[in-house]
Amino acid sequence: MRLKAILRLKCPHCCQGPVFRKPFVMYRTCAQCGIVYERERGYFMMSVFVGYVMSFFVVIPVLIGLYMTIRPSLNGYLIGAVVTLVLAIPLIFHYARVIWMHLDELMDPRQIPPT
Ligand SMILES: [Zn+2]
Repeated sequence: MRLKAILRLKCPHCCQGPVFRKPFVMYRTCAQCGIVYERERGYFMMSVFVGYVMSFFVVIPVLIGLYMTIRPSLNGYLIGAVVTLVLAIPLIFHYARVIWMHLDELMDPRQIPPT
């Protein structure tokens, strides 16, 4: 259920409310359960770390693919990594935030009932 909610970019608490209103724009609260997504100032700084780890898992297969096929120069690998990361920015941005919120919910579940 939680994995499905992550894949569909849903609320970490109820796994039903959408997190994003439109690309790159989040709702402030969950429409289903009412939790505030940003628990405190700087809450999403940890999602930067999640995005960093995600970008590693996005770029490494591309670099291995380049190595297995055309074996470019060092600059070729660099260009391949940069192009891959630029193309993956929307994916990484959205999923890093949602994955971070779900990890945080698992480690520190919200106790306060919705108001
Ligand atoms: Zn919710």
